[in-house]
Amino acid sequence: MHIIDAHIHYAGDHPDVWQLLDRLSLKLLNVAVAHKRGGEWRADAAGAMALSAQQRDHFAWCTTFDPPSLPCNEQGYVDAVIAGLERDFANGAVACKFWKNIGMELRKPSGEYLMVDDPLFDPLYEYLADARRPALMHIGEPLACWLPLDDDNPHAAYYRQHPEWYMGNKPHIPSHAALIAARDRVLARHGDLKVIGAHLGSLEYDVGELAARLDRYPNFAVDTSARLMDLMLQDTQTVRDFFLAYSDRILFGTDYVHRQRVSTMDAEARQAHLAALALRYATEVAYFEVAGEFDFRGERAIGLGLPEPVLARVLHENAERWYPGLANQG
Ligand SMILES: [Zn+2]
Repeated sequence: MHIIDAHIHYAGDHPDVWQLLDRLSLKLLNVAVAHKRGGEWRADAAGAMALSAQQRDHFAWCTTFDPPSLPCNEQGYVDAVIAGLERDFANGAVACKFWKNIGMELRKPSGEYLMVDDPLFDPLYEYLADARRPALMHIGEPLACWLPLDDDNPHAAYYRQHPEWYMGNKPHIPSHAALIAARDRVLARHGDLKVIGAHLGSLEYDVGELAARLDRYPNFAVDTSARLMDLMLQDTQTVRDFFLAYSDRILFGTDYVHRQRVSTMDAEARQAHLAALALRYATEVAYFEVAGEFDFRGERAIGLGLPEPVLARVLHENAERWYPGLANQG
């Protein structure tokens, strides 16, 4: 079956990669992330842009924008962001990413955190809606980010590696509920804007919470990237029912990260890398496809066994519908 991975960060600039993607019938949406102020992300984005121009069947790209340094001339800032987006869309970008530094890191001169529903961003949302370009939003973190880092915490390993993003000891930063509420207000206020919530919309801990938002906001869909484990922790039948009920709103994504250009790897490292990549896709797809037990990274897991039409929607059709540029690129 044709597969679109709607969320990766991958400098796959080598013919061996393209051959593997051909064999797996796999197309990848490369997502730019503005980790720091100052436009450093442009170098990665230029690589993603070149790949999508050169390998249209295998790669597409999603742009982003520099976060504001506040205080700023707001009109000037928004105009510059929109000018950048216009250029990127002309260069094939299919969407615009909003990252978690909005809500969790950037502050206004008053000391308040700059939230995703701040009026500063309204002209941006209006521009994207008019241009029929979706927003890919990674707002907030898993709920586990605010919970104790004990053995029950499914994301403890990540936050031990990235303590700067752990919120259990930072009560001055907006809560999970406040971040989700701000995102939800954007969905309500901008009904014409299509929003794809990365990482199950940061509601990975309960498909019921996610279903409530999907019911309330028809302009909202989610990708599964980096959150299969959270689904596996929930009752399999409940998760399966959720996939059947919202089969047109869930996009397959892995959040695979490999920023080293594959063309710079030696042949042996490259072969090992490609074997690991193929295994990763086989494993992730198995979760959706297999009914019953399967091996997930060395552990026993239970697959959802989704019926063929639902699989086709989740694995590629939804990505083509929610990111219209993806389909156009063939
Ligand atoms: Zn990502």
